Amino acid sequence: MSYYVIPLLLALFGYLIRSLTFSGALATACVGAGVVYGLGLPGLLVLILFFGSSSLLSRFGKAKKRGVDEIIEKEGARDAMQVLANGGSACAGAVLCKVTGDTDWILLFLGAIAGSNADTWASEIGPLSTRDPVMIGEWRRVPAGTSGAVSLLGTAATAAGAAFIALAGSLLFDEWRLFLFITAVGILGSLLDTWFGKRFQRRYRCVVCGRGTEKKAHHGKPTELIEGSRLIGNDAVNFTSSTIAAMIGFAVQKLW
Ligand SMILES: [Zn+2]
Repeated sequence: MSYYVIPLLLALFGYLIRSLTFSGALATACVGAGVVYGLGLPGLLVLILFFGSSSLLSRFGKAKKRGVDEIIEKEGARDAMQVLANGGSACAGAVLCKVTGDTDWILLFLGAIAGSNADTWASEIGPLSTRDPVMIGEWRRVPAGTSGAVSLLGTAATAAGAAFIALAGSLLFDEWRLFLFITAVGILGSLLDTWFGKRFQRRYRCVVCGRGTEKKAHHGKPTELIEGSRLIGNDAVNFTSSTIAAMIGFAVQKLW
């Protein structure tokens, strides 16, 4: 039996427990297959730790996060765009390791996942903070879940999320020199995510209740664009930031 069956089963399971939409399950199976092809079982285990911990955390403290669901663009089951935004470049890194025979591409794989994981942990744990986060550059408190805002708890979760993947990667690939490096790349990815989110991500205001939101409609009425670009949503921001940070990691490794 080959390892390729594992991502298939996980995708099916994710679909059955409604963590993934049908397209999300399809994308998960593809990303998983690419990682198995490129890096085998160790790569697959890193990927499972990423998706597994995110799914667990999203269920944790749900009641407290209900207010956040009103603000963020998507909640509940992950679709293909979300899966590819978080796993696409990691999958490319894994495949490039195999195709080019250059193991430095593992930095694209681990760095991208560390960044996505840091960001996911921050967005799942941060809203549990008892105080509202502070908007970067404006130094005022904004509702939990607002893109570009940070809290102490969220920042700690960012570092822990990056270090978690760095630890798993170092253990599974027996590359301890990578631990601090991958942690740093993951934190950089999450910082870029916060900055890109604040600078470019579309943000709307509800015409009924006046709340800021990422949703295109609220109370059944279309919302109005108040900030950012209509074309840039959360998935685009996640993908760009974790990929750029991981490519910087790859470049630094090459120039070292
Ligand atoms: Zn509203």
